[in-house]
Amino acid sequence: MKVKAAVLRKYGAPMDIEELELAEPREKEVQVKMLACGVCHSDISLWEGYITQDIPMVPGHEACARVEKVGPGVSKLKPGDRVIGCWMVPCGYCFQCRRGRPNLCETSAKFFQEGNLLDGTSRLTDRNGKRVGMGSFVTGFATHTVMPEIAAIRVPDHIQLPEEQLCQLGCSVATGWGSIVNVANAREGSTVAVWGCGAIGLNAIRVASLRNCSLVIAVDLESSKRNIALEFGATHFIDSSQNDPIPIIKDLTGGAGLDFAVEATGDPGAQTQSWWSIRSGGSIIAVGISPIQSTTAIPLFYAPLHAKAIRGTLYGETHPTEDLPSLMEVMNSGRLKTDILVTRLIRLEDLPEARQAIKDRKVIGRWVIKYD
Ligand SMILES: [Zn+2]
Ligand SMILES: [Zn+2]
Repeated sequence: MKVKAAVLRKYGAPMDIEELELAEPREKEVQVKMLACGVCHSDISLWEGYITQDIPMVPGHEACARVEKVGPGVSKLKPGDRVIGCWMVPCGYCFQCRRGRPNLCETSAKFFQEGNLLDGTSRLTDRNGKRVGMGSFVTGFATHTVMPEIAAIRVPDHIQLPEEQLCQLGCSVATGWGSIVNVANAREGSTVAVWGCGAIGLNAIRVASLRNCSLVIAVDLESSKRNIALEFGATHFIDSSQNDPIPIIKDLTGGAGLDFAVEATGDPGAQTQSWWSIRSGGSIIAVGISPIQSTTAIPLFYAPLHAKAIRGTLYGETHPTEDLPSLMEVMNSGRLKTDILVTRLIRLEDLPEARQAIKDRKVIGRWVIKYD
């Protein structure tokens, strides 16, 4: 069938909306109609070439879609089901899957990079019959796509949340939640600060607040993020364009520093600030993806002396097929405030505006593409 999609052909250049041919779903695959897709900071980093995947390809990895057709051997989904796309698909048999870290699945990582599905091929071709890669199994910047059945997490019928909220589960909610619960294991009384009040940072703030952390400090270069950060449960907001967060955090923690710093920006300056803001035995949870060539000035001299840790994490150590369904129920309770996370609905054609707004740090919460 013919579909419309934003195709990334050259890093940093405009993405045209092209008509592509989508092939039929194969074994254990489903064809879906896209309902909504969040525009994640990583999409823009990919667009700029700060992070790379094989091009040409169709980005978009935070999507909610409706199943239209199922391929042979599909048992858990049927046409009409709403699903959330999951950008890391556990193969179940690689080293990482066998040792219980499916978010690092080696099989998936390879196909993710290439823009292929699990049989090593794409279902998309352009007008000239040339192959176009599929974005992270989800391909959310296309009106329709084919996903592996295992990458499509079913939304049960009793969950009536709108698609623009549900799609958040695929990236920002899972990553923000996982950084606090799976990686930090922050608990009642823990002291936490979060650098970067984008969608992932806000979800981390929310979950730290729900876990009764005594301090949940939001740090951002934009004071316009203050209100939403406080609404999500931050106890304090530091505008780091005006104030050095390190002495303020030291003050708020009685001189000791934080148990956990969630670094959700990938900015080398924020990384250094978070290092000096954690206490002995504290950890940086590194969630934000830095530009591929950047380095940081963290003095590891103090790593052994103060037993400080830097814990990188992908997808918040989420086990996609296990954690996403239960997290969806928490979302449905309203406690994650995904209703106020979505601040603007846009069309596929508005992606250039979203790109500029994200680069200018003007996006508060999440902008979401809503499909007709
Ligand atoms: Zn994302
Ligand atoms: Zn695997």
